[in-house]
Amino acid sequence: MARLILVLGDQLSPSLSALNDIGPDDVIVMAEVADETSYVPHHPKKIAFVLTAMRKFADYLRGQGHRVAYTKLDDPDNAGSITGELLRRAEEHGTSTVVATEPGEWRLIAALNDLPLDVTILPDTRFIATHSEFEAWAEGRKELRMEWFYRDMRRKTGLLMDEGKPEGGKWNFDHDNRKAAPKDVTYYGPMEFSPDKDVMALVADRFGDNFGDLEPFWFATDAAQAQHHFERWLQDALPSFGDYQDAMLNENKFLYHSVIGLYINAGLLDALAVCRAVEAEYTAGRAPINAVEGFIRQIIGWREYMRGIYFLEGPDYMSRNVLGHTRDLPPFFWGAATKMNCIAKTVDQTKTDAYAHHIQRLMVTGNFALLAGIDPAHVHEWYLAVYADAYEWVEAPNVIGMSQYADGGIVGSKPYVSSGAYISRMSDYCKTCAYKVKDKTGEDACPFNLLYWDFLIRHRDRFSNNPRMGNMYRTWDRMKDDHKESVLQDAATWLARMEAGEVV
Ligand SMILES: Cc1cc2nc3c(=O)[nH]c(=O)nc-3n(C[C@H](O)[C@H](O)[C@H](O)COP(=O)(O)OP(=O)(O)OC[C@H]3O[C@@H](n4cnc5c(N)ncnc54)[C@H](O)[C@@H]3O)c2cc1C
Ligand code: SF4
Repeated sequence: MARLILVLGDQLSPSLSALNDIGPDDVIVMAEVADETSYVPHHPKKIAFVLTAMRKFADYLRGQGHRVAYTKLDDPDNAGSITGELLRRAEEHGTSTVVATEPGEWRLIAALNDLPLDVTILPDTRFIATHSEFEAWAEGRKELRMEWFYRDMRRKTGLLMDEGKPEGGKWNFDHDNRKAAPKDVTYYGPMEFSPDKDVMALVADRFGDNFGDLEPFWFATDAAQAQHHFERWLQDALPSFGDYQDAMLNENKFLYHSVIGLYINAGLLDALAVCRAVEAEYTAGRAPINAVEGFIRQIIGWREYMRGIYFLEGPDYMSRNVLGHTRDLPPFFWGAATKMNCIAKTVDQTKTDAYAHHIQRLMVTGNFALLAGIDPAHVHEWYLAVYADAYEWVEAPNVIGMSQYADGGIVGSKPYVSSGAYISRMSDYCKTCAYKVKDKTGEDACPFNLLYWDFLIRHRDRFSNNPRMGNMYRTWDRMKDDHKESVLQDAATWLARMEAGEVV
C-alpha cells in the first residue's frame, strides 16, 4: 500500500531519513500552507526563499522518478496546515500511513502525533549528535557548557583531530578571533541568484505588508547554487573568517561571514560536508587554524549544542522569563526611526537582507533588548520572524538562552550584556552616531552605557555572586554616589522617553 512521505520546507535534503527506503507506490507530500507562512510575520525574503527551494526540490524528486503531491499556497484545495494536507492526501491516495522526519519544532511534532493516522517519525540524521547522545552528555552535569560538548563532537567526527589530540595543540582558538573591523574588506559578499517570478508575485501579494524587503532577492534556492556560493566563500573569505568574526561595519553587512546558515538549515547544504571542506582548506595550507577551528566550532559545536538544548528543555522553553522582563518591543525593531546608529544599521540590514551576523544579533539588538528589559517572548518572535535562517530549534536557544538569559543560565554562564564600549571597539558605528559613546551620563550619553548599569543594579541580587560578574559590581561600588544617581536617573528618563514614543 502507498505510504505518504512528508517533506517539510526545511527538509530539502536527498539524504532525508523519511526518503531513505521510499518505494514506487509511495507519495511524497509537500505543501505550502498558511499555518507555516503566518504563525509569525516572516520576512518576505525568507518566505520566497523557502517556497522557491521547496518547488525546486519537488522538481528534483520528480526527476528522480518519485511521485510528488505538491500543494501550492494558492491552490484552491489547500487545507491550510500540514496536518490538514496529510489528511486530504491520505483520503485521496487511500492510505493512513505517514512517514516523517522529525520536525524542528515542538508545535509540529505535537500536531503530527495528534493525527488520526498511523504516523512514524524518524530521527533527523542530518545532525551529528542524536537526542540520546546529547541527553547522555547532559546527564548529571551541573553546567551544560558548549565547550565540553564541542570537544566530544570533535572526537566523534574526527574533525581537526591528530591522533586523539586537537589539531594545532589547542581545542579552541577563539582568543585570536576578536580583531577590530579592518578598513578594507577584501571579500565582496555572498553570491547572488535570480528569483522565481511566480513565487515573487505570490509573496508580494500575500506578504507584502510584512516587515522586510522582498526585492532585490538574491538567495540561492537549490543545492547546486548554495554549493557554488559556499565554494567561492571557501576560496575568497574563509582565511579571514576567524580574525574578523566579531567585527561590524557601517558599510559592510557581511564582512567574511559565510551566509550559509539559511542553506544548511533548509537542507540545501550538509553540515558535516561543509565542515570537511573547511578542514580540507586547512590541510592544504590555504586557511589558518583560527579561521578553520572557529568555523567548525560554530557548526559542530554551537549549532548542534543549540539543537540539543531545544529538545532537552522541552516545549515550555519558549515561555521562560526568569528575569521577569515585560516591556514591549520598541517600534525601532520594526524599522521606525532611532538615533542609535548601531540599532538602526542592524535593523536596516535585517530589513533589506533578512540577515545580520552573530555579533549584531547578540551584542546590538539582543544586548539592547536584554538591557531594556523587553519581554523575551516578544524578542523570540521577532528573531524567528526576521531572519532567513530562523527555525525554532536553533533560534529559541540562541534568543531565550544565549541572548536574553531568560532560561536562567542554561546556555550562558552569565548574561551577554555590555555598555557602548564593546560596540565601539568592534565597529565603526559609534563614529557616526548621534549619541556619544564616551559620555556616561547626560542627554547625549550612549543609551547602552546608561542601560548597562540600570540592568546590573536591577538584577543585583541574582548576579552579584556570579564569579564572572563580580568585577562589574566592584566597579559600580567604587563610583561616587552622585554619579551613580545620575546614571540611574538618566536611564529611567531615557526609557520613559522610549516608552512615550519619542525618537530616541
Ligand atoms: C540572538 C541570536 C539569534 C540567532 N538566531 C539564529 C537562527 O534563527 N538561526 C540560525 O541558524 N542561527 C541563529 N543564530 C546564530 C548565528 O547568529 C547565525 O547562525 C549566523 O549569524 C548565520 O550567519 P552565517 O551563515 O553568515 O554564519 P557564520 O558566521 O558564517 O557562521 C557559520 C555557521 O555557523 C553556524 N552558527 C554560528 N553560530 C551559531 C549559533 N550560535 N547557533 C547555531 N548555529 C550557529 C551557522 O550554521 C552558521 O551558518 C542566532 C544568534 C543570536 C545571538
Ligand atoms: S554610541 Fe551607543 S548607541 Fe550609538 S552606535 Fe555607539 S553603542 Fe550604539
